[in-house]
Parts: sequence; structure tokens; C-alpha cells
Amino acid sequence: MDNYEILGQIGKGSFGLVQKVKRKSDGKVLVWKEMNYGRMSEREKQQLVAEVNIIRELKHPNIVRYYDRIIEKKETKIFIIMEFCEGGDVGTLLKKCKKEKDYIAEDVIWKIFTQIILALNECHNRPQGKILHRDLKPANIFLDAQNNIKLGDFGLSRVMGEQSEFADTHVGTPYYMSPEQIQEKKYNEKSDIWSAGCLLYEMAALKPPFEATNHLSLAIKIKSGKFERLPLRYSEELQKLIESMVHIDPEKRPSVQNILELPQISLRLKERK
Ligand code: ADP
Ligand code: MG
Repeated sequence: MDNYEILGQIGKGSFGLVQKVKRKSDGKVLVWKEMNYGRMSEREKQQLVAEVNIIRELKHPNIVRYYDRIIEKKETKIFIIMEFCEGGDVGTLLKKCKKEKDYIAEDVIWKIFTQIILALNECHNRPQGKILHRDLKPANIFLDAQNNIKLGDFGLSRVMGEQSEFADTHVGTPYYMSPEQIQEKKYNEKSDIWSAGCLLYEMAALKPPFEATNHLSLAIKIKSGKFERLPLRYSEELQKLIESMVHIDPEKRPSVQNILELPQISLRLKERK
């Protein structure tokens, strides 16, 4: 901890503060996120450590880079040191767009989505074994100073789940939960695809595909798999892609590989080179 100087608070996570820090050795500005594991069982703690170790291995331009972790036994806290994403998160961005009814240009949506798919491709198709995100949502997608998209907050939410200090206030409505998750079936990479489809929908429609005021009616809507068409300003290709991803049958959903082969994505990837 002595290697870092605290610059200020960025926000409050579900399990503790998120602060901006400076690494003393080279002046690099980073973020540290504290998580209190005091109320976790031995098994859950081991799982948390295992998850953090996986996250440390993920090195990709579209994934929030993890630098270090510090365990403070006395405080029963783990500090995760990671890349600072100056542009904040997509959740905040979408809230602003919603308020101003300011629709995002379709080209921008495809560009953001392409980067999310590249990040998911890195996770799902790793030679060392696949990693599932498990909590894809606007608040877990960050922007750096150059407006590059960075996927963050892997799996930790799942490990920490019940342990949240602010469980009642902080756990939002699970708008992007897939039908198989509702039915407590196994979470698989196609569940990430469902959530990514919901995210893609919300970036265009400025609202999630399934909305309700309570968990039960949300679950019913999700299991029906039916949602309103995107605003007409958005193309049939975008609509069709969302319909394929947000399909109640996981087998029918495209894989990351299938999505990368779509002209809207592959052409954008060629342009970047
Ligand atoms: P939790 O998922 O535990 O609720 P968050 O990751 O959402 O916590 O963090 C809380 C706040 O900190 C949010 O406003 C988020 O945008 C911000 N934040 C989290 N990680 C970073 C990061 N790497 N760079 C910049 N801001 C971040
Ligand atoms: Mg988060």
C-alpha cells in the first residue's frame, strides 16, 4: 500500500471505495477498488482469490487491465489495482443520453459493440481456458481517455454476490439476466451473449429490452423473449443481430466467432488495421 499515493475517491462500489491512486515508482495513475471479505466463508474467500488470479491473466486492449492486488489481513480487505478509465462507464453515459433523448448514432453503436465483442472473444476463446464475464451491463463497461471501450468487473460480482455491504441499496434490477439464469440452469458463454445483446439493444433504444417494476414480472417478460423493435432510425441488420443474441434458446444464439464474421463487424475490424 505504501507504493501508492491516494489522489481521491472516484466512487463507491458495492463492496467498498473506488479510489484514484498514483504509483509512486513511476507516477502512473491507477485505480484501486477495495473489497471487504470479512463476512465471507473460507470457501468463498478461496474462490475470490482464484477469480482475481484469473483476472490478472487477462491482457487485452478492450479489457480493464489489472495490475496488482494487495491483501490487508487486519482490515479483511482486498485491494485490486487496475487501469484508470478516465471516460467513466457506459451506464453513466446512457443515463445522460436517456435524459436528453439523445440517440446514439448507429455507427458509434457498432464501433462500441465491436470492441465489446473483441473483449468477449478474448475471454471465451482463450487457449488457457474460457472465462465468462457473468455480469455484462452498462455500468461494467468503461471508457479510457481515447474513448476506447474496456470491459471490467469480471465474475467478482458473482463471488461477492451475497456479501455486499449495501446489498439492499446497491443490487440493481437484473435486466440482462438470461432465461437460463432465471431457471437456475448452468451459466455458459451464450448467457454472456444474451447479456451483450441486451446491452446492444439498450445502447440504441435507450432502455433495456425487458423492463418491469418487480423481479417476477421481469422474469416473465424475459422468458417470453419478446421485446419491442428498436426505434426506426436503426437498421434491420442491427435489429436482426439483437434478435439472434436475445433468443430464448441459448443454442440459437450466435457465438462470438459468428458475430465477428458479420460484415458490420469484420469490415470495421479491417478499417482499424
Ligand atoms: P461495483 O461494481 O462494486 O458496484 P463499480 O465498479 O461500479 O463498483 O465502481 C464504482 C464507481 O467507480 C463507478 O462510478 C465506476 O464508474 C467507477 N470505477 C470503477 N472502476 C473504475 C476504473 N477502472 N476507472 C474509472 N472508474 C472506475
Ligand atoms: Mg461494477
